[in-house]
Amino acid sequence: MMRYVSTRGTAPDLGFGDTLLAGLAPDGGLYVPQEWPKLSLAELVATVGAHPTYAEVAVAIMWPFVEGTIDRADFERIVVETYATFDHPDVVPLTPLGERTWLLELFHGPTLAFKDVALQLVGRLFDHELDRRGERVTIVGATSGDTGSAAIEACKDRELIDIVILHPHGRTSEVQRRQMTTVDAANVHNVAVEGTFDDCQDLIKAMFGDATFRERVHLSAVNSINWARVMAQIVYYWWAGLRLDRVGLPTAFSVPTGNFGNVFAGHGARRMGLDVSQFIVASNRNDILTRFFDTGEMRITDVHPTLSPSMDIQVSSNFERLAYELFSARGETIADLFTQFRETGVLTVDPYRLGALRETWDGCRIDDDRTREVIAEVHERCGEILDPHTAVGVGAAMACRRSATVPMVCLATAHPAKFPDAVEAAIGVRPELPPKLAGLYERPERYTVLPNDLTTVQEFVRARTRVAP
Ligand SMILES: *Cc1c(COP(=O)(O)O)cnc(C)c1O
Repeated sequence: MMRYVSTRGTAPDLGFGDTLLAGLAPDGGLYVPQEWPKLSLAELVATVGAHPTYAEVAVAIMWPFVEGTIDRADFERIVVETYATFDHPDVVPLTPLGERTWLLELFHGPTLAFKDVALQLVGRLFDHELDRRGERVTIVGATSGDTGSAAIEACKDRELIDIVILHPHGRTSEVQRRQMTTVDAANVHNVAVEGTFDDCQDLIKAMFGDATFRERVHLSAVNSINWARVMAQIVYYWWAGLRLDRVGLPTAFSVPTGNFGNVFAGHGARRMGLDVSQFIVASNRNDILTRFFDTGEMRITDVHPTLSPSMDIQVSSNFERLAYELFSARGETIADLFTQFRETGVLTVDPYRLGALRETWDGCRIDDDRTREVIAEVHERCGEILDPHTAVGVGAAMACRRSATVPMVCLATAHPAKFPDAVEAAIGVRPELPPKLAGLYERPERYTVLPNDLTTVQEFVRARTRVAP
């Protein structure tokens, strides 16, 4: 049975169920598998055949991570249910984008962004694990617009979960707000906080910091450091290798990156045995990762708003998982390194380790002007419309690709209709919402406006949660 250890080395190791519900480790670290299960593409093909469904591949890849904590039949049912919420038969189709380049479209889920691939599974796994334990939770989160809807869609109508999402009142786009507020489910509660996104995040932190309150409502989160989200994302790297028939051959990936969860999942696939010759970590103007791969120094600076808001980050929290490997699984070193990073805003990796990383990793920055150009170029050349996040990844692939013969898979992380203004500015055409979201502007909205005040928000959460007193 797989055990999970904290990157900071002092928290006790856990099984999958505990890791799922815990999120962050009590020592401040992130959970990683003690050992990576081993697999080759040839073995995968032998297990699932040459033309499996996405769900079949997903079960084969994830089973070693969950085995012993969930019934095989239950797990299969949950995975099938999860990917039935996607409206493409391939779930994450590969679309050719010119010479030896493909788009891996991760945006066919309920909210049109790649977060659905993991969150749709995690919501169901939470419900299953809570049911086994006879427990329930209240999930809280803050969103600037993009991630809230994926969490809400993942948790709506789950028996044992109540979810409360805070967004800054009047500061999200209308599509983003409506994707959250038109969800008609009794366990979903939207709060428009009279304040900024930072105020929302501070309220969430304060709620978690209040031990009495936290216990009383069984507070929980499904943020991007949750191991199960990384696990679900490992699957589509294998899927791409399988679909491109890369048995015994390498593949390269370009990944639009914010919190480093998506690209770390690619690294996980490689640790398992997938042959990956290059990872391109694509960033917008918020280029802390590009500067890191260039210099070995990770230095926090101000965040600038860009056309690709889900990548507007200061710190990529999942990077700690890669650092753990870079420092040979020495938890004490990681604890020192990241405590210091928090205090000083600087983290440095020596030239030797940086050199080892750079054998297969590249950081690449694409600014807003270039992002618009890439959207226009690709539209003109092959008729595909890219969202600005995807365009950052495609632009980075054009700039940093190392081999003309190894196929380059660019992860497409959002549907263009999610960012209609940026797309229209680039190509003069407004992308249409897919049919499942038609009617978004007619459906009634449900949300409560609250002041930026902890006691008021806590009272709201307490009154909505179905946790027994
Ligand atoms: C979250 C998100 C990203 C960044 O992914 P990470 O796993 O945080 O690196 C990129 N694009 C879109 C559209 C996203 O929603």
